[in-house]
Amino acid sequence: MTEPANAPPNAGYGAFDANHPPSTDLVNACVHCGFCLATCPTYALWGEEMDSPRGRIYLMKLGLQGQVRLDPTFVNHMDNCLGCMACLTSCPSGVKYDKLIEATRAQIERNFPRPAPEGLLRRMIFDVFPRPERLRLLLAPLALYQRSGLQSLMRRSGLVKLLPASLRAMENLAPSVPRQTNGGLPQRVVPEGEPRLRVGLLLGCVQSVFFPEVNAATVRVLAAEGCEVVIPRDQCCCGALMIHAGEEKAALDYARRTIDAFEGAHVDAVVSNAAGCGSNLKDYGYLLRDDPEYRERAKVFSAKCRDISEVLAGLEPRAPRHPLPLKVAYHDACHLQHAQGVRAQPRAVLGTIPELQILETAEAALCCGSAGIYNLVRPGPAKELGDRKVRHLLATAPDLVATGNPGCLLQLRGGLRSAGSAVPVVHLVEVVDASMRGVAAESLLTR
Ligand code: SF4
Ligand code: SF4
Repeated sequence: MTEPANAPPNAGYGAFDANHPPSTDLVNACVHCGFCLATCPTYALWGEEMDSPRGRIYLMKLGLQGQVRLDPTFVNHMDNCLGCMACLTSCPSGVKYDKLIEATRAQIERNFPRPAPEGLLRRMIFDVFPRPERLRLLLAPLALYQRSGLQSLMRRSGLVKLLPASLRAMENLAPSVPRQTNGGLPQRVVPEGEPRLRVGLLLGCVQSVFFPEVNAATVRVLAAEGCEVVIPRDQCCCGALMIHAGEEKAALDYARRTIDAFEGAHVDAVVSNAAGCGSNLKDYGYLLRDDPEYRERAKVFSAKCRDISEVLAGLEPRAPRHPLPLKVAYHDACHLQHAQGVRAQPRAVLGTIPELQILETAEAALCCGSAGIYNLVRPGPAKELGDRKVRHLLATAPDLVATGNPGCLLQLRGGLRSAGSAVPVVHLVEVVDASMRGVAAESLLTR
């Protein structure tokens, strides 16, 4: 990247404004060792230093020094980052890249005018995806497209290839419209047997609209394990998509509303079954650090947040598990394995199921390309990463792929279908639910 000679310094923050520029201390914690390069998906794709964690941190440093501006080149390298946080796991110096990229992206969205088509696409995503009531409006036309035969005609004829890249990505990623909705989930579910925990369930926007069966399975499994489940009606989007894309103000508003919704439920734990949402919930204490009204409440809230696999792994199994003779390739969602450090728990939970064999894949630390809105705004590299992940999954000859994030579910289903594979992809909790209910293994294979 060339450094413009005339980049103006800005009152001590260089290219950034005064509202939380990337921290100089965090930037200086990087000792340029390069250990993170091998696990960075964009570096794996292009071998370009400025598309590695080390390169991006260096760009932030130049930005702080006023040696580069927030120009299209700078923004492009930041936009290329998937926010997968593999560099958090692999950095021996403990560089907090998550905080750096989050601050940088918020600066970009405040101070860089995006070209109109790109801005419009992002606006559309942020107007629709965090609003389940708006997402649901898409279900009827999507169901018509899928069930009328138009979808298979578009795909068979190759017409789908004529669509612009982002629309093509949406077409490929769109899930089969479910025939049930989770409007039927009650506000409170009583535990089976002696109560062990009282938990609140975050429904998630994409999860609740496109995967209501995952939320239903989560409730059944928790109740079977002795958890009273509370599902606050006034819960909203948790703000994960927005915070990961630099839409800070909207993200913080959603965070406050989420805290409000769950505080009144007086639960021991707030459970999420979406890795991206879960990592965001656990970060509220940091995100709301400037808000005197919410600062302490956010810390208390975040300390209670758990992924469903953490809750289940922390409970001595009580509900009987029936055998599921299946070879299951477990795909680690990045926001579970890297952002939350949750790797052992999903495997421990699957390990409680008799006759189930867990398969490990090559390059398990590498992102599948889903990454929040990444596969919509950067469909090219997202597809390359998805295809690479699918090759590794198929190399293990699985009966089934299990994961813990709706974005990964969509990405892997799309990738496997494109590869001509009929291997199904399900949420981990659906596997546990099937085992607890004594459902035949075949029922999981027809998803
Ligand atoms: S978050 Fe992922 S894509 Fe971004 S720099 Fe780190 S490893 Fe690379
Ligand atoms: S591993 Fe950590 S310290 Fe080393 S270059 Fe990457 S971010 Fe910097």
